[in-house]
Amino acid sequence: MDFISIDNLEVFGNHGVYEEEKKLGQKFLVSARLYLDLKAAGIDDDINESVHYGKVCHLIHDHMKNHSYQLIEAAAEHLAEELLLSYGRVKKVSVEVKKPWAPIGLPLEAVSVAIERAWHDVYISLGSNMGDREAHINTALQAFEEKREIKVGLVSEYVESEPYGGVEQDNFLNAVAKISTFLSPEELLLYLQEIELSENRERTVHWGPRTLDLDIVMYDNLVLDTEQLTIPHTDMQNRDFVLAPLAEIAPCLRHPILNKTVRELLHELDKTYIIN
Ligand code: AMP
Repeated sequence: MDFISIDNLEVFGNHGVYEEEKKLGQKFLVSARLYLDLKAAGIDDDINESVHYGKVCHLIHDHMKNHSYQLIEAAAEHLAEELLLSYGRVKKVSVEVKKPWAPIGLPLEAVSVAIERAWHDVYISLGSNMGDREAHINTALQAFEEKREIKVGLVSEYVESEPYGGVEQDNFLNAVAKISTFLSPEELLLYLQEIELSENRERTVHWGPRTLDLDIVMYDNLVLDTEQLTIPHTDMQNRDFVLAPLAEIAPCLRHPILNKTVRELLHELDKTYIIN
């Protein structure tokens, strides 16, 4: 992908674990790469279709001056976050913070940390079969809107579906939302669980009734299998209440393991559903 690069911007800041570092301050060198599509700016010769690197330098300078971190890890993390939040065109950033005067009592050129952070395309399935089902789903979407690390994109129609997993219970209302986020899958799962808890979800019966169920269906093309998380969601290809709303907003999305589009997976699943 195209990028704009800023190399070794010299800034002064009061970052460090030692009191002296916080009090006296020292020099830091910051490098950043902003990944975005530069084609339109190149063709039209128009700054409005790019990112003003002078302004980016000032943002970095001001951030490093106005905050005080113990760690250069924290400086890099917060800088990356501010860059992603400040420039909608930027899909990914890499940030390197060097500390040439690190007080370690030995001669060295610099210590540094380098990180890469990006907006990820994620599909979340939302379901409810207790109380005001629509309100529970709306509350979850509202909670996404309120989180600065998340941008809400397309949201499907709400779909009525029959319970899954053999437990006798009321029908579900389901939807799928596309979001962009720079939260990691684990951070995102924690946030989803927080929202579920705030809606008083009770985990009494496996596959039983719930006020709100939020699952990560896909996270870019990531394939992940840990104790906590399976991505793509392990059962998505068997659930019409996931595939149908997903097909509405992303029919051509391809399952990275099954190598089939959502539309194809839905066709393979011979079930009926009723649109609310
Ligand atoms: P449930 O709410 O019944 O769907 O199950 C939630 C549990 O499934 C969570 O505690 C997660 O650790 C685990 N899990 C595994 N993969 C996923 C996923 N893709 N999205 C959400 N939860 C997941």
